[in-house]
Amino acid sequence: MPATILVVEDEPTILSLIEVNLRRAGHAVQLAPDAETARRLIQTALPDLVLLDWMLPGMSGVDLARLLRSETRTRRLPIIMLTARAEERDKIEALDLGADDYVTKPFSPRELLARIKAVLRRHAPEATEDVVELGGLRLDPATHRITAGEAEVALGPTEFRLLHFLMTHPERVHGRAQLLDQVWGDHVFVEERTVDVHIRRLRAALESSGHDALIQTVRGSGYRMSAT
Ligand code: CA
Repeated sequence: MPATILVVEDEPTILSLIEVNLRRAGHAVQLAPDAETARRLIQTALPDLVLLDWMLPGMSGVDLARLLRSETRTRRLPIIMLTARAEERDKIEALDLGADDYVTKPFSPRELLARIKAVLRRHAPEATEDVVELGGLRLDPATHRITAGEAEVALGPTEFRLLHFLMTHPERVHGRAQLLDQVWGDHVFVEERTVDVHIRRLRAALESSGHDALIQTVRGSGYRMSAT
């Protein structure tokens, strides 16, 4: 499953080099030349990962990273810092303020893609193509196939993304607003009861094999996927 990556970079040539390579790797790309634009885009929809240049006009990349880490909604958003400076203390500062990784310019596209993949695997497993299994359910993002025991399960695209997110984040309660952010990528324009509608459809699709029981309603909080 391709990830949505927000690239915050003020140098147009680097921005377009990154864009071309990310798109070629199958990712969806959002571009922001400064921190303010990046904040607006994040406000509308959460990306899966932010590639953030250290030195930006106006608010610096470091300050934006700090801000994202301080807000509940973006606290766990994966961030990779880009910088022209290769000094050890810069790297330490970047990791200290909560960046997940750090890439020094000039970098090869291959290196950048490898770093992105590693960070996504750690922090946003729903944005990778790894097969996930839970309680007898098996979901393969690459082929879009779900099996419940021996039987194949057919799901619509939203239910598929919802199940993928729940399976890659099991045993945790997810509120409706959080699911909208993570699965729909938009917390502003969709009503929270939309989540309930899709959970209902998902359960209906899993009912014949009994796997609907894996999705639990946590009264007053949201939903949890659990194999126990
Ligand atoms: Ca810059």
